[in-house]
This record gives sequence, structure tokens and C-alpha cells, in this order.
Amino acid sequence: MTKLPNILLIYTGGTIGMVKDYKTGSLKAFNFNKLLEHIPEVHHLKCLIESTTFDVPIDSSNMDPDNWVVLAEIIEKNYDKFDGFVVLHGSDTMSYTASAISFMFENLSKPIIFTGSQLPIGDLRTDAKENLITSIEIASANTNGVPVVSEVCLYFEYKLYRANRTTKMNAEHFQAFMSYNYPTLCESGVHLKFFKQYLQKNPIDKKLKVIKNLNKNILILKIFPGIQKSTVESILNINGLKGVILETYGSGNAPSTDWFLNLLQEAINKGIHIINVTQCAGGSVIMGRYETSVALESIGIISGYDITTESALAKLMYLLGMNIPKNEFKSIFETSLRGELTQVL
Ligand code: ASP
Repeated sequence: MTKLPNILLIYTGGTIGMVKDYKTGSLKAFNFNKLLEHIPEVHHLKCLIESTTFDVPIDSSNMDPDNWVVLAEIIEKNYDKFDGFVVLHGSDTMSYTASAISFMFENLSKPIIFTGSQLPIGDLRTDAKENLITSIEIASANTNGVPVVSEVCLYFEYKLYRANRTTKMNAEHFQAFMSYNYPTLCESGVHLKFFKQYLQKNPIDKKLKVIKNLNKNILILKIFPGIQKSTVESILNINGLKGVILETYGSGNAPSTDWFLNLLQEAINKGIHIINVTQCAGGSVIMGRYETSVALESIGIISGYDITTESALAKLMYLLGMNIPKNEFKSIFETSLRGELTQVL
């Protein structure tokens, strides 16, 4: 008999782990250790499950890079003992955390599946049970002991996505996430249907490396019609600023006024890395396609191609933490490290 996969469930907080107090109608934190009692179905899964929780579970709006490191350390500490990991996380910032974890784990050869829910696990109409049970099944899926998935993913409402391609796009529907620029990795119906051609194929013989040094001195600057020179000037002159995600229009276009381009140029000259990411949910930055992006390219702005803002933010913190030489930074950022972008050549 082959051995049953060992799965570690990690509860970080969020709606999924709450129960409704039917007397007051409010949501309250749930004793996570009793989770398995609440979902007797998990005992029918073909795996062994252990669970752990953050010391103080948090709403994901309070997640920050220090919490990402705490989570990374839980997985790192348990990496050899378990075959797969399911992370229960609030949906609000799940795409940020999951993107960050994808960069922090180099040479990952086991599944790390993020999930959560729109309704608490104790709610009658909850989406939590399906999300949790299927995430555990996906984390356990293997062919002769080799995991089917060996990357960081996000599972929600019958679909598995590459985590660093996702965005939370709905605060109401059970289908809360989308991956606009990369196909679904697995669909859950009567059976789990994996689309293996889209899964990351990581070498299993390379040693896992967990990178925890993240640089938080960055910001997101979303341009809008009427943006003022004084605003851009003060933002780009923030003390200690190391990187900017510039959210541009369409395929990477921005105002071509001299003051705007000069401020960007000055920032780049000071060593600040500026990444061009589109405000559109889908599609790619293609610098040089329109006149309004030719100058951005010529002053050395980095293309994010079709990366999400969440993933660009995580990648920027991660790469800045690695102290990469200035002249190599652009080409490394523009390269897909964990399947997070598609370079348009
Ligand atoms: N505010 C909650 C959180 O992100 C929402 C959720 O869990 O889905 O933690």
C-alpha cells in the first residue's frame, strides 16, 4: 500500500475560520482546533491532516510582509514532514500574500494551496467547505508519490489558479478571484480536471531556498487624468524610496508631458526602480506601441508585461531585498521567475 499524503493546514485568519453567533448575528473567531469536528467530511479524504494556526489569527487587511515571513517559516519548518500545504487566509489580500510566498520559495517541489471563503465555515450557505475540501484534495494529488502540483496556487469556487496571476475582483460573488492573463490550472467538477500543460514543472532535485529579506520601501502610483505635478513630485521624493509600481493606462501608456517624464527620469537617476504595470485587469504592457509609452521605455522604465499589481509589488519587495546590482535589475524583473509574467518580445 502506498503511503497516504500528509497535509498541513495553516490557518492565518479571515472569514473562513469564523462562525456566526446566531443569537447576536455577528461573526466571531472560531476555535480552529475544532475545525475538523465541524467538517466531518475531511475524514473521508485520502490523506492525513494536521493543522496549525497563527498565534493571533488576523483579518487579511492586517497582513504585512512580516506576517508573510511568519507564514513562510511555518512552511519551511514543516517542509520535509509534509507532502503539501493548505493555507487558509482572508480573501482581501490573499493574492498579495500568495504572490509573495511564490517568490520567497525558490525550487519549490510541493504544493502550497491558498484558499478562503466569502462566508464563514459555520454559515448554512457557506462556500468554505468546498473550497477547503477541494484544496486539500489538490494538495494531496500525486502520481506515484510525485505531487501533481508543485507551485503556489489559489483555489476558489471550483477553480485552481497560479497564485501570482490572481486578483480579487468581486466582494460579493462566491467566484471572488480571477486570473486574467493565465489559464486555470484545475477545475473541480465531478472529478478534478488538471490542465497539466499549464502547471509549473519544477526540478525536484534542487534544494529549497526560502528568501525572507523583503524591502518595504516601495509604493504604488496609480496615474489618473488630472494628476498634479506637486503630487508626483512629493511621492517620488519620499525618503528612502527604492521602487515604484506605476499603474498606467491600457498597454502601458502615461501622460507625455515634460514635467511628468522629467520627474520619472530624476527618480530613475537616483536609483529608484519604476515598473510599468497596466491598470487594466487583463492584457499586457507593450512599451513603444503608442507614442505615449515610447518615452517611458527610453528613460529606463521596467516593463511588468502582463503581471498583476499584487505580484509586481511582491516581486519588487523580493528583488530589492536581494540587493541585485542596478544594471541587472531591469532584465531580472522583466524575466518570469515563478511563471508570473509573459514577456512580449
Ligand atoms: N476581511 C476578510 C479578510 O480578508 C475577508 C475574507 O476573509 O474573505 O480577512
